[in-house]
Order: sequence, then C-alpha cells, then structure tokens
Amino acid sequence: MATFQSRIGDATVTTVEEFILPTSVRWMFPDAEAPFDILNPALPWLQPHFANDRGHLLQSIQSFVIQVDGITLVVDTGVGNDKQRGGGIGDFNMRSGPFLEEFVAAGFPVESVDLVIATHMHTDHVGWNARLEGGTWVPTFPRARYLYVDREWAHWQAEAETSEATRTLVEDSLRPPLEAGLVDLVPPTHRISDSLWLEPSHGHSPGHVNVRVGSAGVEAAFIGDMMHSPLQCAAPEERPTFDRDAKWARETRREFLERTAGTQVRVYGSHFHRPVAGLVERDGGNFRFIAVDE
Ligand SMILES: [Zn+2]
Repeated sequence: MATFQSRIGDATVTTVEEFILPTSVRWMFPDAEAPFDILNPALPWLQPHFANDRGHLLQSIQSFVIQVDGITLVVDTGVGNDKQRGGGIGDFNMRSGPFLEEFVAAGFPVESVDLVIATHMHTDHVGWNARLEGGTWVPTFPRARYLYVDREWAHWQAEAETSEATRTLVEDSLRPPLEAGLVDLVPPTHRISDSLWLEPSHGHSPGHVNVRVGSAGVEAAFIGDMMHSPLQCAAPEERPTFDRDAKWARETRREFLERTAGTQVRVYGSHFHRPVAGLVERDGGNFRFIAVDE
C-alpha cells in the first residue's frame, strides 16, 4: 500500500499516494532552451528518488494527513474517481483507483478528518473533496470543515463563468462541500492552530498557499505546486507548464528558496516522489534538495 509516515516534532504526517506519474523534462518545462539533462552528474541528488535512469522525472499525486494539536488535517485531495477531465491528461479522466480505500486502511475513516485544505484548486488537488454516491457528488469527509482560501475560490468561481472545464471542476469537487455547509473561507495567512498555519505562495495559481507546521522545534512547509519537482531547486527561474503567472511564480519560488536554504525546514511537495520531504541547500547561485529518508 502506498502510504508513508514521517514526523515533524510532535506532528505525524501520513502521505497517501494516489498514483505515480513519470514525466518528461520537456513536458514539464516547455520553455527550456534545451531540455535539462537531469542525468547530469551535476545533479546527482535527483536520483534515485526524483528521477529515473531513463531521464524521466518521477512525480506522485498524493495527499498528506497531518495530525497535531488534536487535529486531523488533509492537505490536497488528489484527482479523485469518476471525474470527467479533458485536456489530454488521460490518467486524470474517469479514474477508478483505490485511493479512498487505502486512505481508510491507513487509519483514517472518512469521519475522522477534521479539516481539509487545498494548497490550490487545480484538478489534482481537490478531487477527493467529493465523491460520487448514487449519481450525486457528496463531500468525501462528512464531518470536516473545508478551508477555502478566499482569493483562490474567487478566482475559480469567476473562471467557471467562461470555462466549461472549470465549471465541471467546480461542480464535481468544490461546490459539494459548500452546499453541505462545510466550507469556511479563510485568508491566505490564516492560522489554524498553535502548530499549523498558512503562508501565501501565489503565482502558480492566484491564491496558492503553503501549509506550515511547527512542532517541538521542528518546522516543515507543504508547498503544493510552488515547485513540481526538486529539479526546480536547480532551476528556480524555469517556467513549468502549469504556472498561471510565470513571473509571479518565479519570484515566489526564488524568495522561498532564499529564505529556506540552509535551514532545517522540511519541504514537502505535492508531486515530489517518495521520500517527499527534504532540505534546501545552496548550490552556487541556485539550490539543491536533499531528501530526508525516514
Ligand atoms: Zn498539481
């Protein structure tokens, strides 16, 4: 079963993997003048965790369950089952994967979840917000409060007016918790509890946030898609396919890396392959990512 556990001070993190996605560097970074040579000996830290020996990046779609302060919080809810998704992302369309069964088997009945937050509202981060039951979309976690970052939700609501794909996403994943009265709108600086807070990291999407954890002197940052791969430590300026505002995303990424490099802050990416946590270190004018094995 694809679940992994790690600790941040007194907090427990359970990573529940939905599926693995090997991607080409060219697909992820379409503007690169020449595809990065990710097998370059200058980037030995990418292998074996984050790239394979055939030159593909290894990426996961996954959720994090953080338990601290008596709270069970889910960060990002993957792609989901039964969702109509176009745009050539075949692995996302009409899935029928065992994610929810594995999530429950990892020790989390759906009723045990107190809070759900998406780092942003892209299709691979909000899918399991809702599931199909008897032909109707219902909240997957019936007891949870779903925290919607105000400016992120406003953006997707507005876009649903003109985009059929976004309208579908809103209807099958974002509106069901709202209609069930489970949504709290929060600012991107929201503090959840003593050990949990949000940090704005806009750019990949207009209201993208990091989820920060600080417990017993240990800190971590769940950075969503602020970086899609640790490769971006070595090339923070390179635009990945999915950044909404490339310039803003680049500035946000650079600022985070400058601030985090050399600290003990454990960085978890929503698409970083196992092990998903690592430390950022300086490497010339850029950075590298050192996986924390546990
Ligand atoms: Zn994503």
